[in-house]
Amino acid sequence: MPFEFPRLTRRGLIATGSAGLLTAAAGPSLAMPGPSPVDTGSVQGGRVTFPNWRGEADRPSAPPPAPLPPSERVGFAIVGLGRLSLEELLPAFGECKRARPVALVSGSPEKAALVAAQHGIKPSSVYSYADFDRIAENPEVRVVYVVLPNGLHREYVLRAAKAGKHVMCEKPMANNSAEAREMTAACDAAGVKLMIAYRCQYEPNNREVIRLVRSGAMGAPRFIEATNTQTMGTGDQWRFRKALAGGGALPDIGLYCLNTARAILGEEPVEVFARVFNPDGDPRYREVEETVSFMLRFPSGTIANCATSYGAHESKDLRVRLEKGWINLENAFAYEGQRLRVAHREGKNEAVETIRLSQENQFALEIDHMASCVAQNRTPHTPGQEGVQDHLLMEALYKSAETGAPVALAPTPARDATRGPAPDQS
Ligand code: NAD
Repeated sequence: MPFEFPRLTRRGLIATGSAGLLTAAAGPSLAMPGPSPVDTGSVQGGRVTFPNWRGEADRPSAPPPAPLPPSERVGFAIVGLGRLSLEELLPAFGECKRARPVALVSGSPEKAALVAAQHGIKPSSVYSYADFDRIAENPEVRVVYVVLPNGLHREYVLRAAKAGKHVMCEKPMANNSAEAREMTAACDAAGVKLMIAYRCQYEPNNREVIRLVRSGAMGAPRFIEATNTQTMGTGDQWRFRKALAGGGALPDIGLYCLNTARAILGEEPVEVFARVFNPDGDPRYREVEETVSFMLRFPSGTIANCATSYGAHESKDLRVRLEKGWINLENAFAYEGQRLRVAHREGKNEAVETIRLSQENQFALEIDHMASCVAQNRTPHTPGQEGVQDHLLMEALYKSAETGAPVALAPTPARDATRGPAPDQS
């Protein structure tokens, strides 16, 4: 029998006294059936919740987000209004629950004024690079988010720490491990938090791969295969200048392969090997490399084979081959379009399952993580040490490519030694 709403009359309303029907008395039209509690939902523990309206066979819809009121969110200053800031980060703040943009730092007054107006940021909270240090006097700014070319990260992280602000810094952390260590030490000395924006460690599909591998249910991982390639346009951009970029494809996009392999296993490589390739005569690759193929050997025996290039069509995939199956995450390192598949034996058959997780903005998740760490005085999941370790490993990879020989590294005793507690994404 299909469900039928009770017929709504004034007498019926008084007689039933039902909460749902009484709501209707104050509703927009007495002529219409009023909403039932299934549709109005209720407020519980500071959030609006709705009962599940779907059948048992379907997954329930995600609950409405429960953002903090703007005045209670942690204020961020964005340093550098380039593509990442304008195309991804500022839009992602619209999906943040605990963070909000309150200041901008830019070398272009016209662009800064326009962006500030678009995002409701006060003109008095727009700074130039020259007067950036005045940010110390702005109590609304709790976190400075450095989104400049890599070679400028060190200077702005140091200046932010000196201003007494917590710091979030884009990847790669710096141009090399010496700079990265200096940044970590400066933040420690100033008593401020430092988080490196390794967005994939907050992205739900990547987190599910980590969970699946670490659960042990699929046996030991033997191989990790990670590829991050794209093609590049004009040579007149900072990514081709070593002083501004630190290197080529490896620190820019190959870093995701390296960082993800480490994050999946929680171990550190004990041996690395790399080959670098540059196309003959291409002026873009006079200072930085185009293509790197590299291998990481972990103490448990897992091998990671990784490839990165500025000269191969976009491909950002991850595969883990384990004793009892494989996990394939298509578009693992992309901003969107992740597709997670898992294969294992099922009786006489091979089962290949597609796992569809709820879509979430990974930039909003990582920004909210930093906001929570500041509000609750916790260590970020990807602190400065995580960035230092990647720089040490990239230096070992470049050394291997230079000498043509593998480079051995001292074993690290503790698992996840460079990470803070896993993010709470509930
Ligand atoms: P971009 O070139 O689009 O923006 C860089 C900004 O820095 C511009 O506004 C530019 O005007 C400013 N700038 C100041 N001084 C500069 C100088 N001397 N030379 C060049 N630009 C200067 O770069 P982007 O893609 O936004 O990258 C910024 C940072 O974010 C880099 O560290 C990059 O690695 C990182 N990034 C991270 C992701 C991610 O997915 N997490 C994606 C893209 C970029």
